[in-house]
Order: sequence, then structure tokens, then C-alpha cells
Amino acid sequence: MRFATKAIHSGEISLEKLKPVITPIFQTSNYLLDDEIYKAFLEGRGRDVWIYTRHGNPTRRAVEEKMAALEGGEDALMVSSGMGAVASVLFTYLRPGDHMVTSKHLYGGSLGLISMMEERFGIKVSYSLPDHPEGIIDAATSETKLFFFESISNPLLRPFLMDGVVEFARKRGIKIIVDNTFLSPYNFNPLQHGADLVIHSATKYLGGHSDLLAGVIVGSKEDIEMVWKTYVALGPTADPLSCFLLERSLKTLHVRMERHNLNALEVARVLEEHPKVEWVIYPMVNNYYEADYARSHFRGGGGMVTFKIKGGNEEGMRFMRKLKIIKEAASLGGVESLVSMPFNTSHYALSDEERRALGIEPGTIRLSVGIEDVEDILADIDQALEGGE
Ligand code: PLP
Repeated sequence: MRFATKAIHSGEISLEKLKPVITPIFQTSNYLLDDEIYKAFLEGRGRDVWIYTRHGNPTRRAVEEKMAALEGGEDALMVSSGMGAVASVLFTYLRPGDHMVTSKHLYGGSLGLISMMEERFGIKVSYSLPDHPEGIIDAATSETKLFFFESISNPLLRPFLMDGVVEFARKRGIKIIVDNTFLSPYNFNPLQHGADLVIHSATKYLGGHSDLLAGVIVGSKEDIEMVWKTYVALGPTADPLSCFLLERSLKTLHVRMERHNLNALEVARVLEEHPKVEWVIYPMVNNYYEADYARSHFRGGGGMVTFKIKGGNEEGMRFMRKLKIIKEAASLGGVESLVSMPFNTSHYALSDEERRALGIEPGTIRLSVGIEDVEDILADIDQALEGGE
């Protein structure tokens, strides 16, 4: 072999006898082919063999199996972002003229994609409140293919009372899609309550360290196979490094979520009593929209606490800038506490009136409570509310 050939072909180790304890990063875009692989591919079983990383990758497969186990589904599909997951699902089940029922209480990016699909692809959409099952059923038509809601919404943590629509959806062949990002599979498993598919922005609690972007879809083998075909065509492939990081993160999801649950509950209780705070929303406190539902369905309320500071958006900005440990940032679900205001982040595109109509009043703050010592989080909030230096 000459130089260039040696540079390319020497040092090819065989993986046959290699037994690492953890799942390594298979940083490869493709795989060696053989007759078995050709056969599987030609028979439409492309997902069962390794051909090309957009179709499948072992590091990704490890996360998919873990996520299917954690959500209680038969199968799962990892994609490059939460939006990649939402898009892959919507493009799988909706054709021009089809109708879906969803809510304005949805992550802004999902709302943007839905209105784009309305405009460009002739999808019909009705909006309903997630906690009014009768309204969701009333909005359904003979063309309805999907109900799409968040298990608790971003940012007002409104619950999707899915028990009230499951029977109706089953009878009508309507798929129930639940974005479970805010609660995580540790706190709630929508598939066990009748959902067909669960979506996560794995960028949030599943990743948990604010260092990766990914999305995941969990459901039956049949549904995941359908979504996989759309996903292979669209191409939002989760890269092997992000899958490796995610697989590592999922091993501590239960430990992190337990701490998020405890810290956020404590923060919510303290904020409820604070004279500078007008209202607090958290699933495990008594004045939650549906406290009984939350207690009977959720293991914990998660790490998100939404509250209104007296004095409007200006006072909210002043409060955020005074915080020392809690950082001002748009995302959520990491080990570190983060804070933002919907009016200039997730809901900036709406007018004041539109935000108010949704319940996002001036002064609304979205706090992602991390897993630091809760005494330090509380002291930071206290000094910032008091306006101390
Ligand atoms: N769903 C929810 C509830 C979200 O909060 C987000 C992002 O903030 C997404 C989906 C989109 O996820 P990603 O940013 O990973 O694309």
C-alpha cells in the first residue's frame, strides 16, 4: 500500500470481539453491506439492519430502546430536535383537507409550524383549551385526524385532560399526540392513558445539561414505522454524539427529576406567600387548574414554575437582571436554574392583547428550577424580589 491508501485503510479495527460496558459513539455515516442487508432493504425492513445513519445508527438505537422503555411504548424514534419530532409526526398523519384539533396553549414553534401547514398545505385547524375535553370533542369534524396537545402547556402549565377524549378519539380513529416535554416520562406516561404517540423535546429534561438538541417520538411499532418513513424522507437525523450524550443523561433522569420536583414545589410554595407575587402556577399546589387530576396522574409536577410578578414586564426584567445564580436564558430543563419572560421570548410574536387573552399577563415569568441546593435558589429569588444588590 502506498501513502494515501495506508492513510485511509490501515488501523481498521474489528468490532467483533469488542465489548465496551457502555454504548459507544458510532460516529459513522454508513455501514458495510452484505446479502442479508440487501435482502432486508428490498423487503422494506430497512430499519432492522444498518445501512446508512439517516436510516439507523446503533448509538441512536440505544436511546430509542431506552426511551420506549421509559415511556412504556413498543418503539421510539430519535430525531434532531423537538421540532423535528413535531414535524415528522404532523407530516405523517395529515394530508391536504385533513383537520386537527390543538390549542393556542402550545409551544410557539409548534404553533408556527401548524399555521404554516394551514397556509401552505391546506390543513384545517381548530383550537381548543387543553383542559376542556368537551370543547375538543365539539371541535372535531369528520375530517379530524389528530388531537395534538402538551401534557402540561408551555408556559402556563395547563393540563391536557386526555381521559375525557380518549374514548371518542378511539371510536373515530383520531390519533392522540401528546408533547410530554415539560413533565418528562418520570412524572407522566401519556401512552398509559390512551395517547397514540408521545413527543419530547429531548433538548430539555431528557438531555438535562443544556448541551444538546434532540427530539424523540414514542408509540406502537406500527405508528413508529410510519413516522420513520416520513422522517427518512424529511431527514432530521439525530447525530451520534447527541445520541451518546442523551443516552448517558437518561441514566440519571430519575435522580434529576426527583430533585427538580422537590425544588420546584418548594419554590412554588414560597412564591405563593410572597407579597410581590400576584399568582403562581405549579401542578402540585392546591390552586392549580386541576389539582386532583395532577395528583392522581403525575408522580411530580416537574421543574417549571410560572408566576406573575407585580409591576408588569418592566419589574419582571428588573427581577431577572438581579438574579445571581439563576441565569436568564430561553431554554429549560437543565440542571441549572434558568429564567425567562414569555413576552420577549416564546410569545414575542403575539400582541399584548393576544398574550393577555391566553393568560400571559404582563409580569409573567417562566422559571426552570434546577437541581442546585434549594436554599440557594430561594435566597437568590428573595434578594432579587426585594431588589437587593
Ligand atoms: N415542545 C416543547 C413543549 C418545547 O418547549 C420545545 C422547545 O422549547 C419544543 C417542543 C421544540 O423543541 P426543540 O427546541 O428541541 O426543537
